[in-house]
Amino acid sequence: MHSAEHPEIMWGLGLDPDSATFIEAAAGPGYALRNLPPDAVSWMRGAEGRTQAAWVPWSVWTNLPKNRRLACGQDDCVRRILLLDQEAELLETEQVLAEGFVTAVRAPLTRFKVRDALLRLREMDSLTADLRRKTEEIALERELLVRKSNHLGFLNRVLSRATASLDPATILSKARGDLRYLLPLTALSAVIWTRPEDGLNLSAQLYMPSLLSPQDSDEWQQTLIEATEQKAGAKVSEYRQICLSPGRNHKPVAGPSAGRLLFLPLSVGGESFGCLALMTEKGVRLAKDQVQTLNACVNHLALALRNALLYCQVKIQADHDGLTKIGNRRSFEVRLAEEAARHGRYDLPLSLILVDLDHFKVVNDTHGHPAGDEVLRDMAVLLGEGLRSSDYPARYGGEEFVVILPHTSHDQAALLAERLRQRVAERVFRIGASKKGLNLTVSVGVASLAPGGTSESLVLLADQALYVAKNNGRNRVVLAGARGPHASDVSDAVALGESLQGKCEGKAQGKSRDKGAVGRKAVQNRAVI
Ligand code: GH3
Ligand code: MG
Ligand code: MG
Repeated sequence: MHSAEHPEIMWGLGLDPDSATFIEAAAGPGYALRNLPPDAVSWMRGAEGRTQAAWVPWSVWTNLPKNRRLACGQDDCVRRILLLDQEAELLETEQVLAEGFVTAVRAPLTRFKVRDALLRLREMDSLTADLRRKTEEIALERELLVRKSNHLGFLNRVLSRATASLDPATILSKARGDLRYLLPLTALSAVIWTRPEDGLNLSAQLYMPSLLSPQDSDEWQQTLIEATEQKAGAKVSEYRQICLSPGRNHKPVAGPSAGRLLFLPLSVGGESFGCLALMTEKGVRLAKDQVQTLNACVNHLALALRNALLYCQVKIQADHDGLTKIGNRRSFEVRLAEEAARHGRYDLPLSLILVDLDHFKVVNDTHGHPAGDEVLRDMAVLLGEGLRSSDYPARYGGEEFVVILPHTSHDQAALLAERLRQRVAERVFRIGASKKGLNLTVSVGVASLAPGGTSESLVLLADQALYVAKNNGRNRVVLAGARGPHASDVSDAVALGESLQGKCEGKAQGKSRDKGAVGRKAVQNRAVI
């Protein structure tokens, strides 16, 4: 509020004394007018944060040098009111505004005209203040939008990178890189748990940081298992460690006690299936919006991981035999084609053993189909014993099994096959609730891939050898695959088969193998020959 004691200053520039007196009187007691000479050097300085009125006659304004007029126009705190004297009668409003005046008052001056001009000036002030406020609001809104857009962009990047893979370890490795933009991450690990069919204990997959010392590795393992048991409320009875690929900088990672650990649950639709452990430097505090983004990010990751896990589950089901849980015929063929291609590229030895249970039909006929199933399950376990991780056992069909043996010469494969034959012959298979003991034997065909050979030709050779083994009394190993550095001829193989032959002679000796793999007929002919 202006008062007579603290009047608001108005400026006059070259006003004639009568006009100056009149304006001051007409404005009222809240205003004081300081009239400056037309050539005043320093004039009309607006007060900080407030605007002041300045009365300028047209005749004075038009006589000012151009640079003075420009300087005047740049002072935001002074609002100029134009006094139009007689000679400026024809001046248009547009021209007044273009010269930077807020309004114009025509001579002769009246009290009403002076007050009206001051009122307009105040209106202009309040409009300007409104505009300024709106501009500030828009700027703020824009900043929020920019932040939201950055946030969404970040989440979008995390999600699209996470969904680009169906391998949980790759998803987690990528997430580690992305989360570094959000918080000063020093390590990332995770655990994904499943409840096996008995439903009591948990089976856990521990995704460990890479480049750990043995002690730090133990510490991470312990931490992840404890977190699982605490969050899932059940004991971990089995676990598997999977190492995440090292980051670009290949820096060794410290144990979990070296930093601050943040556990974030991985859940979808209210169902928890794991948790993420993020390690930062000790003492790092996250801002509220960082926490929000982190939570949204982990929800996205949980979805991508769930998807990947479902995919793995479906893939395992598609690649594995439902009864024995080892590879099925389809996955065997895919794997063999891959190995054969590798063999072709690097000329590495590749062997195959084909195993058929002798007189298995009798087991079914005597003890029932479920007992037969039990034997097949045990047989799959037995087959896997003593294999290397690169070997691939699979159920070829019915009571026939197969093992792909990469980097294995014909002789090594022969020994392996013979050991398997002996193990089966010595094993007592337990069946039914009574755990009745059962002795069984297998016939085995062994083949190795010669240079230029195909996966089909390898199966054919193994099958031919198996046929010979069956025809020569069963419970024996026969080597096949004529020609090539890793193979012996079928006829030699028969001889070797004889030398490897066990004691047991099948009751249906000479019974022909009436169905099954390719090429049996050819061998049958050859055998006859
Ligand atoms: P050989 O020594 O000539 O191989 O005689 P075998 O009785 O083993 O061979 P055969 O081909 O006459 O019979 C194979 C049997 O395997 C017949 C079939 O019922 C049984 N079989 C195939 N698949 C399964 C299965 O999944 N479970 C059970 N229990 N039996 C199966
Ligand atoms: Mg059989
Ligand atoms: Mg068979």
